[in-house]
Amino acid sequence: MRLYTAEINNKEEILVAFYDDGCAYIMSKLAKLSSELDFVDMNDLIEKMAAEKEAILKAVAKNVDSLSGAEVKLDEVKLLAPIVRPRQDVICLGINYRDHQAEASRFSKESFDVKKDDAIYFGKRVNRATAPGEAIPSYEGYVDSLDYESELGVIIGKAAKNVSVENALDYVFGYTIVNDVSARNVQRRHQQWYLGKSLDGFTPIGPCIVTADGIADVQALDIKSFVNGELRQNSNTRYMITTVAEAIADLSQGMTLLPGTIIATGTPAGVGMGMQPPCWMKKGDVVVCEIEGIGRLENPID
Ligand code: MG
Repeated sequence: MRLYTAEINNKEEILVAFYDDGCAYIMSKLAKLSSELDFVDMNDLIEKMAAEKEAILKAVAKNVDSLSGAEVKLDEVKLLAPIVRPRQDVICLGINYRDHQAEASRFSKESFDVKKDDAIYFGKRVNRATAPGEAIPSYEGYVDSLDYESELGVIIGKAAKNVSVENALDYVFGYTIVNDVSARNVQRRHQQWYLGKSLDGFTPIGPCIVTADGIADVQALDIKSFVNGELRQNSNTRYMITTVAEAIADLSQGMTLLPGTIIATGTPAGVGMGMQPPCWMKKGDVVVCEIEGIGRLENPID
């Protein structure tokens, strides 16, 4: 099952797609068949649906033919990020693919030369997630080294505290794609990553959330990025240093991960700072992040 957020008639609507046929149903119209499907937004849906989601939705889907006007074509609607306003900062993993560690360290030893087995976590402020197709601002005059990072995004579905690695994936609501856009000069100047990754417009998310049951093995997904059609990153989630389950277990040892928490699980090699010489995104470029089984997240730079 895929969940989208779209702007329809100037209103934010949740869409649900049961099949990969380009069609989806407007959730607020399905709610007329079951009041349990009445959600304020995606955060509300994630919090309320938890385990029952599949059963409720499938029951409603059987009747959906009787509900005219609930169906839309995904290529005819204006998509927003599936979670437009994350309730908390996104939790990011730094340097979570070995090959990216090597290229980052080559670019700036003092900022990125970290060789350790324990994961690196940091926050990324997202006042409003950037929609598929929406422009990423280039901040000319402030940012001179605008970079992309294609990442698997994990959405937590129920409160996780002290969970084991074995049970960790039971707490996942679904998966999405996050472009962890980064201003390398701001990262380096402040000697931490928070500000340089938290500028408005620096977090494209989408195009959808694939619910956890739709991904057979989260550690076996091809992950790529393209700039102006040129393949830049080309890896697989099997090369993560800290797996999704390990990260959830690790984070939850002292911190409760609330429903709707977004974890960006790090990026593989091939970002702009890893190229020789480094190659930054600029106005007019188009960046695409792609993950097998989830889709493509495309954004122009403005
Ligand atoms: Mg990142």
